Amino acid sequence: MSASDGGVASLHPETRLVHGGTVRSQFGETSEALFLTQGHVYDNAAQAEGRFLNTDPGFQYGRLSNPTVAMLENRMAAFEGAEVCRATATGMAAVTAAVMAPLRAGDHVVAAGALFGSCRYIIEDHLPRYGVETTLVEGTDIESWRKAVRPNTKLFFLESPSNPTLEVIDIAAVAAVAKEAGAKLVVDNVFATPLFQRPLELGADIVVYSATKHIDGQGRCLGGLILGSKELIEADIQNFLRQTGPSLSPFNAWVMLKSLETLPLRVEKQAQNATRVADWLAAQTKPLKVIFPGHPGHPQAEIIARQMSGPSTLIAFEVPGGKQGAYRLLDACKLIRISNNLGDAKSLIVHPATTTHQRFTPEVRAAMGVTDGMIRLSIGLEHPDDLIADLEQALAKV
Ligand SMILES: *Cc1c(COP(=O)(O)O)cnc(C)c1O
Repeated sequence: MSASDGGVASLHPETRLVHGGTVRSQFGETSEALFLTQGHVYDNAAQAEGRFLNTDPGFQYGRLSNPTVAMLENRMAAFEGAEVCRATATGMAAVTAAVMAPLRAGDHVVAAGALFGSCRYIIEDHLPRYGVETTLVEGTDIESWRKAVRPNTKLFFLESPSNPTLEVIDIAAVAAVAKEAGAKLVVDNVFATPLFQRPLELGADIVVYSATKHIDGQGRCLGGLILGSKELIEADIQNFLRQTGPSLSPFNAWVMLKSLETLPLRVEKQAQNATRVADWLAAQTKPLKVIFPGHPGHPQAEIIARQMSGPSTLIAFEVPGGKQGAYRLLDACKLIRISNNLGDAKSLIVHPATTTHQRFTPEVRAAMGVTDGMIRLSIGLEHPDDLIADLEQALAKV
């Protein structure tokens, strides 16, 4: 079971997500086998030597690779159109490896300021401890990326749409600046999903996912993915993963292989539901502001039209009354539960200022656009009328 796309690379995305990467054992099982094993036995000592030398292509040890995990990696690589995919235990393990592995003390990183809290921690707090300097820029302002470049700039990092403000960055334009600077661009594509935005085609060098979100899609397992060229991943990232060990459990890989089969069905339906809910919210007088990448009034609607093939499954909106108003709405929701996961089949609501973005000062939150009245809503697979009815009775209490 070496790098294989199952011969489906030229077929449609839906087909690639059902068949990509599948390798069958001698039992000819229909579905993907779950290999719960730490290691593999060798026929003889010379074969063991060959595995360690990488001249024999088989498996060796679960921290390095596993047949079920490899099927997930190859299926995602075939879907994303990447040469190589590496799976990790969580999305943050993927981000950490993709960002830290290629850098050395003395390097410089430029990143968009509007980031998922933990991503911002890695860039802003963690990298400087190892002698890597960081400049945070206003991601939507291309000139600010260009101005931040220094002779030692090695890496650009961005997330688009951003969490929770759903700000969209022109990936092709940032990729062009990165290329000019001789830096690699890493894109966290979680909010767009692999279905609606294809960063590698827009010029990004590496794409990362928290597979915990839409890829699992049913709130069961944590996981992460790193995708890119063989050259880039094998240069530093692969070895970093092997030696530091944030390996994805084969069980989680098996769940996610199953989930990938239904990814287009789920994400398209969730996006349709999100569109219904966002349209309804925008027609109400209570929310002061509704941010949804599918709306023509979105601040980056023009970029979205060029860069994304669908909206998000997330909506951000602001209610009057700041934190109190937001709490009243959250506490009044019955069907929509308060939880900070996203991309789940269950619709989930969260107050970013007091949870995911709590550790930032009010000034930083304000700069990120995270107001006290802002609410993030992740839309699931329920009937949209039930979601709207729940929001209607909750909004009445704000
Ligand atoms: C959730 C998330 C992560 C982190 O993923 P985990 O699987 O929770 O480690 C990173 N980036 C974005 C945009 C996310 O939404």
